[in-house]
Amino acid sequence: MISISRLMTGKREKADEIRYSGNKDYYPKVLVFNVTRNCNLRCEHCYSNSGFHHYTDLPLSTWINAVKQAADMGVKHILLSGGEPLDRRDTYLIAKEANDYGISVELSTNGTMLTKERVDEIKNYVDYIGVSIDGPEEIHDKFRGIKGTFRKAIEGIRNSKEAGIKTGLRFTITRDNYEYIDFIFELMEKEGIDRVCFYHLAYAGRADIKLDIDNKTRLNVVKKIINYSTSGKEVLTADNPVDGILVYAMTGKKEVLDLLRRNGGNKSGERIADITPEGIVYPDQFTQIPIGTIDNLKEIWEKPNPLVEKLRMRKLYVKCSACPFFDVCNGGLRGRALALGDLWGKDPSCYLENIFNK
Ligand code: SF4
Repeated sequence: MISISRLMTGKREKADEIRYSGNKDYYPKVLVFNVTRNCNLRCEHCYSNSGFHHYTDLPLSTWINAVKQAADMGVKHILLSGGEPLDRRDTYLIAKEANDYGISVELSTNGTMLTKERVDEIKNYVDYIGVSIDGPEEIHDKFRGIKGTFRKAIEGIRNSKEAGIKTGLRFTITRDNYEYIDFIFELMEKEGIDRVCFYHLAYAGRADIKLDIDNKTRLNVVKKIINYSTSGKEVLTADNPVDGILVYAMTGKKEVLDLLRRNGGNKSGERIADITPEGIVYPDQFTQIPIGTIDNLKEIWEKPNPLVEKLRMRKLYVKCSACPFFDVCNGGLRGRALALGDLWGKDPSCYLENIFNK
């Protein structure tokens, strides 16, 4: 994840300590907890292939134990996701446990279950709630598969904000909604929302490559996002480190390049890892190759399997390692390359050539 607004304006946010620490961490600093595969919606672009109530969740005790292990490993940040994390009635207890250990907690939700009651339950344990919005009402409801979900999500955002929780938007860029960047910033203005993160599509679960935009369009979309990032809002992008290179190309500022070097680009399996609803650990949500299990988290990095070892030395393996920006990008998202058949192939969403070869 890259804070575009930090690169453009220099304004620091709390999570920048992790994003630009420059530390070579032994254990990941960020863990994604996919606490359920159940969901009340069935979105077109869901990376976890979640769906209605077909799945048996791991018991609460397993996730509580994972929090304890995370604390022992020095994890700074847990992201509660799913499925729809609020589909579990006890998700707030996982958040509470993490909060008790001093780990910051972020909740990624479709917003439809953020009722006043649920917000009240979780408000003391989360640092941030990110609600997915895919565009204007009609577009959003079409993506989400059920009418009325846009309104419910907006209601959820209001409930969350009213309870004093830092609340922002999550927007996954696809061919069906890339034209609604202006709408998102207008919505933020209207609802008093201060943070937004734009996600590049990663081809996992139901998120098919056919839903993605081409790289020429991507360049223009990200330029637009960058231009909005000086408006006082916190603006981030995720899952494509090339966005940082574009900020550098647009500003020419050495400080930007220095920050990007400290960030180091994609760190799946190193600075971040993902735990599935079944307790399998992946390098990230989209690179769905097992590297361990929820019961033995430390072991994954202490006795690494060949994939973790290779990710630590990915410059030796990634096909684009001769790129002059490899130290700030690290080869992009392996999950997308994997979706095209070669884990070490070039990330198909790399638009570096579009930036420099006009
Ligand atoms: S060629 Fe590879 S390292 Fe260079 S910007 Fe693209 S994905 Fe990143």
